Amino acid sequence: MKIWIQSNTKNISQKVAKQLQSKLLQAGITISANRPDLVVTVGGDGTFLSAFHRFNDQLEHIEFVGIHTGHLGFYTDWQDSEVDNLVEHIVNNQKKTICFPLLDVKVTFKSGVVSHFLSLNESILKRVSQTMRADILIDGRRFERFRGDGVVLSTPSGSTAYSKSLGGALIDPSLAVMQFNEMAPINNRVYRTVNSSLILPKEQVLTVMPAPQSDYIVTIDNLSYDHCSVQKIDYQISCETINIASYRPKRFWLRVRNAFLVDEN
Ligand code: NAD
Repeated sequence: MKIWIQSNTKNISQKVAKQLQSKLLQAGITISANRPDLVVTVGGDGTFLSAFHRFNDQLEHIEFVGIHTGHLGFYTDWQDSEVDNLVEHIVNNQKKTICFPLLDVKVTFKSGVVSHFLSLNESILKRVSQTMRADILIDGRRFERFRGDGVVLSTPSGSTAYSKSLGGALIDPSLAVMQFNEMAPINNRVYRTVNSSLILPKEQVLTVMPAPQSDYIVTIDNLSYDHCSVQKIDYQISCETINIASYRPKRFWLRVRNAFLVDEN
């Protein structure tokens, strides 16, 4: 088995990564970034997102698992004090593979160039200096004309991140759906948006066609592209998924409770 360890730059993460590497080597496991079978992240959810983007062209054969060195994350469910336990589970290879849905983001720029991205949490299209105006289409039919700060499309596992801050619903990642949320929509006698979260099933496409400007910001998780001349963005649930190595039961609603309500088992 080949494993890659991706850590953030914090001292504690580097220390845990070193400790993990030496225990894996002792167990006869190869550490390599070249087509690994398993990627172990050490840090927080941001580190996990970065590892996902680094290896997102090899999702078919890679599994991911996360160790957190700060507070419990949504993708990082092993504590830094549990390294021995995790190594034992990895060596025994007794696990379930859980697949989380991903968002397919197809950006068509005014130049005609088309770029494809995969998102694990969410993708945002926004304008900072002035109001963003955009037509929102579902399966090619106009749904609403949006005016406000921007729009966010999120995955189920991203529903506990930015989308939650916008008042979006929390969605169990076993459901392959995407969620649309508006950022500060303008609603008055002249302008009208639905101003509710929309949850769209797999295969439906939500298209955002912003008014022609060249100062849009497009984000894909923790990556941001500024000064974009976007003609349109098509969003849909991807046919690709991320494989999470689950060595012990994952209970989404317990995680939600521990993160947002009370830390208790
Ligand atoms: P980061 O990595 O420091 O993450 C910011 C916070 O978001 C951390 O507390 C992290 O644990 C949490 N987070 C990330 N993914 C999560 C998830 N799926 N469920 C619950 N919490 C999650 O910051 P970054 O690298 O700039 O951005 C990464 C992510 O942070 C973005 O994808 C976005 O979802 C989130 N974010 C949220 C807000 C907000 O809620 N207002 C603002 C910026 C970024």
